[in-house]
Amino acid sequence: MTKVDVLGVDFDAYTMAEFMQRIKERYQDDKGSFIVTANPEIVMYAREHPDYAQLIDHDADFVTADGIGVVKGAAMLGTPLPERVTGFDLMQELLGWANAQHLSVYLIGAKADVNKAAVAKVQERFPQLTIAGARDGYFDLKDTSVAQVVIDSGADVVFAALGFPKQEYFLKRIKAARPHTILMGVGGSFDVLSG
Ligand code: UDP
Repeated sequence: MTKVDVLGVDFDAYTMAEFMQRIKERYQDDKGSFIVTANPEIVMYAREHPDYAQLIDHDADFVTADGIGVVKGAAMLGTPLPERVTGFDLMQELLGWANAQHLSVYLIGAKADVNKAAVAKVQERFPQLTIAGARDGYFDLKDTSVAQVVIDSGADVVFAALGFPKQEYFLKRIKAARPHTILMGVGGSFDVLSG
């Protein structure tokens, strides 16, 4: 079984290495990947917001267990998940691979100074990446011009640190326009990266 239902959210029962393997395979097949790293707060939010649950169910290609609470919950339900796969760790793995592949990355989210510092860290640690663009995360989702700029950048990978559910609704828009892109909501990861 590759899917594990925890309170209505279907998680992929993969290790970090397996997630990476599958994302790479899809990339080689010219397919993008929309990754949701779901913690217990996201599971509870999805239970109360059918729109968001639907997005995870229909639009996400991968759902990782971002939190020990999800891993423990799955074990208690008798359908264990192999390990916790956090947004921060998966972002690091993806950056390493994208760097080796000389891909381009868009970093959207967090406050302007945090975003700048995160971009500087990425450039320092992953020098073969092209930064397709970057900006802070303080904009109204109704303003579709922000998504359009990201779409027009042609980035291979987009990391959105906007917090949930904003980052997933934003990335859904990118997926609709550029389905070959690797898209991932990374919550507070730019704050961690920049610190
Ligand atoms: N954020 C943003 N735009 C917003 C709201 C939040 O860019 O409209 C950023 C915030 O600055 C922080 C991140 O999103 O960097 C949210 O971090 P948090 O740890 O709260 O997110 P979670 O991991 O819980 O989704």
